[in-house]
Amino acid sequence: MMERQRAGRGGMLFGGVDIGGTKLHAVVARANGTLLARARKKTKASRGVDAVLDRVQDVLEEACDLARTTVRRLAAVGVGAPSAVTEDGVAVNAPNMGWRNVPLAATLRRRLGRPVAALNDCDAGTLGEAVFGAGRGAGTLVGFFMGTGLGGGIVRRGELIRGENGIAAELGHQIVAANGRLCGCGHRGCLEAYASKTAMARRLAREIGEKGRRSRLEVDGGDYASIGSSLLARAYRAGDPVVREVVDEAAWYLGLGVANLITLLGPDRVVLGGGVFEAFGPRLVARVRKSARAHTFPPASFDDTRIVLSQLGDDAVALGAIAYAMRGETRQAGGR
Ligand SMILES: [Zn+2]
Repeated sequence: MMERQRAGRGGMLFGGVDIGGTKLHAVVARANGTLLARARKKTKASRGVDAVLDRVQDVLEEACDLARTTVRRLAAVGVGAPSAVTEDGVAVNAPNMGWRNVPLAATLRRRLGRPVAALNDCDAGTLGEAVFGAGRGAGTLVGFFMGTGLGGGIVRRGELIRGENGIAAELGHQIVAANGRLCGCGHRGCLEAYASKTAMARRLAREIGEKGRRSRLEVDGGDYASIGSSLLARAYRAGDPVVREVVDEAAWYLGLGVANLITLLGPDRVVLGGGVFEAFGPRLVARVRKSARAHTFPPASFDDTRIVLSQLGDDAVALGAIAYAMRGETRQAGGR
């Protein structure tokens, strides 16, 4: 019976969508994580929730076309969103999207006619790495994803740790400097205010734009926020002193945050992902590791933790959303 169930699931296809502030990324995959197709589209968040959900539907259909299937034939769909998401799939608050209490899973379920599960994007990314990527086999996995912002997640023995309220593990908003830099969340000294692309852009604007330090990254009009991670990585590799200083500082702070998690939880693995790590690769992981080692207590607990680069890259959130949706699908099948 088990064998038959497993064989049946092997033939099932799942859809996953990473709803980002600027772009949507959809994949179609098998239950074992084998990717069949991916598609992308701009989010156009300013057009409102319904317009974004139209585009989510479009990008998923596009991925299905490429995988030679249809949305109707998907066993289930998972979506990751840049928001705290309740267990029944309501996006509570997504500042980048202008969303408040959007019933994401229920609305998409109605539109797609398929079971839909929704979760926070960084929870999805961590779950994706735990099930299909660099976190496979880990007992406790902590994920940090550095892009425009900084998010993270915790997976222990295959389950997301989200606290009794279901919305905890906001790793980017742990405070690493009392009365420090102002964070987008309104608090001061959050890790995200030091270790994110937004934080680095602010420092670049100050060092280059205001202090007039020489850098190959000098931007007309001072719009440092639009600098892509790959351009930043190129300047870093070329030895640009200002970029080195700014990026190394971000890595040092992220190392502090990683050390806090190791000290508190003793994970056996930490995975680092997101656009910035995609662009910088192992070199930046090494900087973070060095800082984490210096700040973990007791020092011996650091030796039990491996800090590794994401394996799933851009697909982590969409694949993690699939892993999450697969569980709901299994629960429903079990309940019938
Ligand atoms: Zn914050």
